Amino acid sequence: MRTLPSFDKNLKPHVTYLDATRDPQLSPVIEKAAEAWNTAWESGYQLLQSYAEIGTTDGLPHILIETGWTESGVLGETRICYPRRDSCPLTVIRLSALAPSWPSSVLQSVVAHELGHALGLDHTPDATCSRPSLMPAELNLDCMRVTPTTDEATAVASLYQIG
Ligand SMILES: [Zn+2]
Repeated sequence: MRTLPSFDKNLKPHVTYLDATRDPQLSPVIEKAAEAWNTAWESGYQLLQSYAEIGTTDGLPHILIETGWTESGVLGETRICYPRRDSCPLTVIRLSALAPSWPSSVLQSVVAHELGHALGLDHTPDATCSRPSLMPAELNLDCMRVTPTTDEATAVASLYQIG
C-alpha cells in the first residue's frame, strides 16, 4: 500500500528536490528533468499532494538526488520514503557513478524516469518504440523520452486526486 504524506493543498504544485550530486554537468540536466514534470502539469494538471511537494519532514527534503551508484547495468534507483515508510520523510534517487559521462539526453531521460518513480509510477510493461514511454523497464536509446507522456502525467495526477 502506498504511503502518501499529507501536504498543505494551497501550495503550488512543483517537483522540488535537493541536488546532492554537486556536479556542474549533471545539475542543469536534473533541473530540466524536473521542469519536464512541472511543465506537464502546468498544461492542464494540478498536483494537490505529492511526494515531491515543497516542504520538509523531520528537517529533510523530500527528494534527494545523488550520484555514485556502482552496480553494473543500473542507471539509477529510486527509494521511496527512505528510510521509513510510515512517515515518508525522504525519497532518494541515486544515479550511476557513470552518469556524468552520459550524453545529456540520456541523463535527462533517466532522471525524469526516476522522478516518475518518486512520484509513484511503476514501469510501463508494454512500452515499445511505436508507443514510447518515459517509464519503460529498460531504456531503449532508439526511442527514449525525456518528458512524461500525457498518460503518465495523468497517471500521477490520479494518484494524488487531481481534479
Ligand atoms: Zn525504473
